[in-house]
Amino acid sequence: MQPSESTNLYFHIAADQLKMPEWLRRLLITPKREVTVQVAFERDNGDVETVLGYRVQHDNARGPMKGGLRYHPTVNLDEVRALASLMTWKTAVVDLPYGGAKGGIGIDPKTLSKKELERMTRVFVDQIHEIVGPDSDIPAPDMGTNHEVMSWFRNQWEKYHGFNPAVITGKPVEEYGAKGREEATGRGVGLLAVKLLKRINVRPEQCRTAIQGFGNVGSHASKFLFESAFPVVAVSDVSGTYFNSKGLNILEMFSYSIKNNNRLEGYSGAEKLPAEALLELDIDLLIPAALGDVITKENADKIRAKTIIEAANGPVDPEADEKLAARGIMILPDILANAGGVTVSYFEWVQNRQHYRWSLDRVRQELDHTLSEAFENVWQQSATLSVSLRTAAFMLAIGRVQRATELAGGTG
Ligand code: NAD
Repeated sequence: MQPSESTNLYFHIAADQLKMPEWLRRLLITPKREVTVQVAFERDNGDVETVLGYRVQHDNARGPMKGGLRYHPTVNLDEVRALASLMTWKTAVVDLPYGGAKGGIGIDPKTLSKKELERMTRVFVDQIHEIVGPDSDIPAPDMGTNHEVMSWFRNQWEKYHGFNPAVITGKPVEEYGAKGREEATGRGVGLLAVKLLKRINVRPEQCRTAIQGFGNVGSHASKFLFESAFPVVAVSDVSGTYFNSKGLNILEMFSYSIKNNNRLEGYSGAEKLPAEALLELDIDLLIPAALGDVITKENADKIRAKTIIEAANGPVDPEADEKLAARGIMILPDILANAGGVTVSYFEWVQNRQHYRWSLDRVRQELDHTLSEAFENVWQQSATLSVSLRTAAFMLAIGRVQRATELAGGTG
């Protein structure tokens, strides 16, 4: 199944519940604009490398479009299209005044030197600068991009349009970034895990947890949960799974990974298993925080966790979702679970526009407040209508986009 087919399937399940007419479904699903551009840049040895860059702007009924930039070899138009629509539903479910977009380049950034990465980013901006801006479409980091890439992006965009740091979020703190943005997605995952456990009457100390991926999201989620007394028994990255049945020393692993170029390779304080072993461990809570489509109909029956929190975008495909639901496994869906990042991106944009800076405490408090409210709304909707948390989240989101579209005169 193509990524956009999966996302649209979840959309239709919620739209059925809302008894939404066919013409409106088509209007809400169809992206406003899809752009594919040539990104040709010079390698350090003088060769010219040509790759494809994408920006999909899905919907702007609720505000300027917002969504990350992904540099990864699997990036293609369909994946970007799916991720752009997820951003529309994500910003709506947490009630940020934004629509959804996404972009990226189909390349492995680890194969580039820093200078090559910068040149490629600047050429990409040359190609798309006219369609992004603080009031139209605001990019942010995603897999394979970071605050440095955001800085180059902003600098190149400002060469055309003048000073305006609100054009992009996830910038370095000393260059108009927000305190707490780096940790925000992982912290949000952790905050929501605590709220979910309270609702199902499980104490953190009883919740053996495994987290796939130890990058930006996975490492900060692990740290938050470790500090909240969850026994984190396994974490993984591309180099493998690191396991300790009594609980890992996450703070030690966190510092190790930072010193080791964001990799766990070589960490010796835990038992080492193959990377794919993590998903099938005997645990209570599973948090996929790496790639999409890691739980499919092939391995869904082997999942032993009782609860899944989707920190990555689209880690559970619809066939697996159905199988897991039939076994009573509860899933907190991506559009809510990983919304902490876009929420703090919104705070960054607000600060940039007001030329004002918030303290880290304020950022954390407002994040907790925004996610708590969204979680409670989704939980109540799910309980009242006896639908899954995913369908409840999509219903809330789609309902809000529908209302904004109607208020604007019917066509968004
Ligand atoms: P990242 O590039 O910082 O980290 C990805 C991690 O996944 C790395 O540790 C990598 O080693 C690991 N990984 C890759 N393949 C793996 C495999 N087969 N098995 C185990 N680990 C593997 O990316 P990130 O920013 O942490 O994003 C992770 C996910 O979260 C993505 O789906 C992204 O779209 C989503 N997300 C990120 C943010 C954000 O703010 N960064 C916000 C919302 C959603």
